Amino acid sequence: MNRDNMILAILVAFPVVVVGFFVVIELLQRRLGSTECPHCFQRIPKDAFKHGLPCLECGAVLAEAQSRVDTSRLPRACRKCVTGDDCLELWDGEVYCRNCIGKQSSRLLQAAESDQLGEEMSYSIPSIAWRMFLFAMATMIGFSTLVAVLLIVAGGGREAPGAFAVVLVISSPVIVMFTAGVSIALPLLRPKTIVWNRQLIVRLGSQLRVSSLAECRWYEGRMSQVNVWGSGFLLRGKALIVEIPNVKTGEGNRMAVGCTDESREIWKSFFELAEIPQKRRKQSWWSSWFRPRASPEITAAKSDAT
Ligand SMILES: [Zn+2]
Ligand SMILES: [Zn+2]
Repeated sequence: MNRDNMILAILVAFPVVVVGFFVVIELLQRRLGSTECPHCFQRIPKDAFKHGLPCLECGAVLAEAQSRVDTSRLPRACRKCVTGDDCLELWDGEVYCRNCIGKQSSRLLQAAESDQLGEEMSYSIPSIAWRMFLFAMATMIGFSTLVAVLLIVAGGGREAPGAFAVVLVISSPVIVMFTAGVSIALPLLRPKTIVWNRQLIVRLGSQLRVSSLAECRWYEGRMSQVNVWGSGFLLRGKALIVEIPNVKTGEGNRMAVGCTDESREIWKSFFELAEIPQKRRKQSWWSSWFRPRASPEITAAKSDAT
């Protein structure tokens, strides 16, 4: 094998080996961290048993967990109007009458019959892979340009175009690696959020994050603000962003729910009814510069509530 073929072989083998390594690790972690649900036989995170959660696939109760309806506290009056009968318990553990839930949203009333409110995040993997390709490409072109500019500054102007091309060719496996990595990782990740029994549960692959629903905060934002996994910035579309409390350092705390118009209405009306604290909308520095008194809708919502 001559030198050129050798370099080509290394360029091709590098992303294959690295992506292959991470896929094996992920599959192994998934195998060890998950087990079969005794009801639907799908693989679910083992931690669901540890936390006494229902199955995230079929909703069946897995352990002798505290029942959703605590009979010692029944009968309870509607949290909103007090007088309403025909009550049911929602996922924040509070009781509401069907009239108050229906006034909030008819879609919420339909959803309220279920033991849990859940949403698996929907996205197009080819679109995300394409955005990752463009992002990695732009980053590598930027890096190659930087190398060329540094060479020009150092007085090596003649070598700059060659150096630009060499750095770009050498970095091409990184572009392939990131694009292939995101295409393989996303079908394994299957991010899902559910609220059940006063808890907010986020599933990422075989990992579960369980938090107290009352400590979460939410705002109307964009899916690109998701940071519970690394490539969340590549998502597009409107969503409600939920901030998970007490995350470990280095872990993201923003997850999206309400990724379609219908589900957004259900989640938003539930958060409002359950009085989950709403956070002021995140503003970019330029919008706060030009419009220092932005987000009047939140001020209006607050004055309506009082
Ligand atoms: Zn199941
Ligand atoms: Zn009521």
